[in-house]
Amino acid sequence: MRIRVGHLYPDYLNIYADRGNIAVLARRAAWRGHELEVDSVGIGEPVRPGDHDLLYVGGGQDREQALVATDISAKGEALREAADRGAAILAVCGGYQLLGRWYADQDGAELPGAELLPLETVAGSRRMIGDVLLTCELEPGRSHTLAGFENHAGRTLLDPGAEPLGRVVSGFGNDGESGFEGCRVGRVVGTYLHGPLLPRNPWFADWLLAQALAHRTGGEPPELEPLGDGLEAEAHSVSSARARARGGRFS
Ligand code: GLN
Repeated sequence: MRIRVGHLYPDYLNIYADRGNIAVLARRAAWRGHELEVDSVGIGEPVRPGDHDLLYVGGGQDREQALVATDISAKGEALREAADRGAAILAVCGGYQLLGRWYADQDGAELPGAELLPLETVAGSRRMIGDVLLTCELEPGRSHTLAGFENHAGRTLLDPGAEPLGRVVSGFGNDGESGFEGCRVGRVVGTYLHGPLLPRNPWFADWLLAQALAHRTGGEPPELEPLGDGLEAEAHSVSSARARARGGRFS
């Protein structure tokens, strides 16, 4: 099957090799006999709801965020419709902040967001940097750990009752206080975890692929055939150990 991916602002939101997440999705799809077709969706280019099974937004600093904020806000309605129609969406760090209502940056400028996730972000004076470990339960009864790296000054506050992506075991997470990291609404996930995220968290890459396939077929997310994942498991354990060694408020 052909899985259609829309990569938003690859020329602006692309720090920490966030692009590597797409490479992982492409490989893991190919190993199951699927092909990933990746379109870039830049400033002024429309998001057409239904056209993409998965939309991806990487991270960027305040400067790059300021360059795309007005445009992502203008794409908000189409992004919300795409999500309503069951597209999977992954947004990382700067991209995550811009899926919320707004991001008040270091200079106090209020950058508009896509209003897709129930949250707002305000830049603080202290940067939250280092390896992070989370526990996530995206499907009831199926708990997994997610390991990554964070580097942000923005503090993200979820609306009351909003679902985080996970709970922080080690690291800062959304704001260094709540013990929450990321946000999830159905198939839409935002997170501060860079690194890139998917090479060391194959279960999460497969969760995204299964959601994208469900959008493609109009059915339920399929159970994907397991892969070897020896190297991936090693990368996960190195990364988790680094996060645990760092400790932090929630360890
Ligand atoms: N500029 C944002 C912050 O520091 C996002 C940074 C990033 O994407 N790494 O909060």
